Amino acid sequence: MNLDADVLVIGSGMAGLVAGTVSASAGLKTIVVTRGQGATADSSGALDILGYLPEAGSAVGSPLEGLYAISALHPLHPYSLLGFEAEEGSVNGDRVVEQVRAATEWFLEQMRASSIPYIGTLDELLWPLTMLGTTKPTALLQKTMDPRSLDEESDSTVLFAGVRGFPDFHSSLAAKAFLEARQSEGTGPRRVSNCTIDLVPFGVSHNLSAIEIARHLDRPEGVDALVQQLRSSIEMSGATHVVIPPILGLREPVARKDFLEEQLGATIIELLGFPPSVPGVRLQLALEDILRMSGGTLLRGHEVASARISDGRVLRVTANAPARSIEIEASAFVLTTGKFIGGGISGITDGLHETVFGLPVFDSHRESTEGLRPQRLTDLVSITSSGHRLFGCGVGCDETLRPITSDGDRYASNLFCAGAVMAGHNWPQEKSGLGVALSTGYVAGQAAIGKVRS
Ligand SMILES: Cc1cc2nc3c(=O)[nH]c(=O)nc-3n(C[C@H](O)[C@H](O)[C@H](O)COP(=O)(O)OP(=O)(O)OC[C@H]3O[C@@H](n4cnc5c(N)ncnc54)[C@H](O)[C@@H]3O)c2cc1C
Repeated sequence: MNLDADVLVIGSGMAGLVAGTVSASAGLKTIVVTRGQGATADSSGALDILGYLPEAGSAVGSPLEGLYAISALHPLHPYSLLGFEAEEGSVNGDRVVEQVRAATEWFLEQMRASSIPYIGTLDELLWPLTMLGTTKPTALLQKTMDPRSLDEESDSTVLFAGVRGFPDFHSSLAAKAFLEARQSEGTGPRRVSNCTIDLVPFGVSHNLSAIEIARHLDRPEGVDALVQQLRSSIEMSGATHVVIPPILGLREPVARKDFLEEQLGATIIELLGFPPSVPGVRLQLALEDILRMSGGTLLRGHEVASARISDGRVLRVTANAPARSIEIEASAFVLTTGKFIGGGISGITDGLHETVFGLPVFDSHRESTEGLRPQRLTDLVSITSSGHRLFGCGVGCDETLRPITSDGDRYASNLFCAGAVMAGHNWPQEKSGLGVALSTGYVAGQAAIGKVRS
């Protein structure tokens, strides 16, 4: 079987779905081919743009400030590529900010019409609470996680509510960590307490996952049970705010939050969680919806295994599913296969490999990683402020987001690249993962449109 498209996007995480939606919205025949979900669905759903500069221990003042600093200090960072001016031979920080702002505003607009509206801007960091009771810097947040009322109201009483049988969240430990952090800063709340509620989704009361609880809360009877369970704890503690794991349904979390607040008279805030992550799945589903609504096609369960290249152009790729193999031709291709979790980069004993085109893999400084065992790119200490070099590794791209060969030449004139598969951003250390995927996906989608129309 053969398919053809104007633009073929490989991978359906944040980068691929954004690139595909941009292309389909411009009226081009767009296919996003994917073997399944990647890191986007596993993420906390908080869209980090830039929290820390590479190798720096303290957070930036704002994402905007961070973008200007990256542009000045790290010309090979994916953000910097978006503002690289070939004639000047330098990165224009204003251009970087302009491109990231355009992508961010586009994303906020798309999400406003979805069931998971986001809040936030480039002008300030948000500090949502995690399930450990700590905070982390981010830029854009699902509305159900907005922590700002906790800072605005110092006279608050905060109730941490866990769910019996859900082992990922210990409400008493989180409450303790939160209180200690607030006391050391000399800020509110007035009082913190914790409780454990019984929800028993689908008759199960042990080893629950956040996804199971969220599915239960997608049903009206699940939410009614949650209201009843929380009511007595709120009355006993006098809570003005209730913080809960991210479980308020996969599809309509804002409606659930509004209903709970109306019934209980307290502000409800979801925490950032761990995989399997309900907000990550919500984001994945919302992005898939906007691709379909824009006219794009999502072809799931197909792994792109090889490509046919001729005269410096990608002609077609072969995608394999368990029971068939298909050839897909296109005028422009966008590679968004992610890193180790997505599957775009694999690490085996003889080194790191890009899995579709066999592109060379570089580190953040554009040094070749050829022949290096992945262990050589990690630190003995698992958590370090400079991060592990391994996470900065990926495909090297020029300023048009076209992948380069080990000689620094363009690999193909109609192949673009976006997201975690790109070298040059150490996302766990910088807190830049979904922001890089969004911004480069947005620009790569436009570049693919330009290529098809040229
Ligand atoms: C546990 C965890 C928590 C995170 N938390 C955050 C966070 O809080 N904030 C944040 O900003 N970032 C976070 N990140 C990072 C962020 O999720 C990633 O940087 C981002 O999602 C990358 O998006 P992507 O589209 O580039 O790749 P992915 O989302 O990984 O998508 C890659 C896609 O390519 C597909 N694919 C791969 N190979 C092939 C092939 N050969 N053929 C067809 N399809 C293929 C995969 O199936 C997948 O669909 C987190 C990551 C993890 C793992």
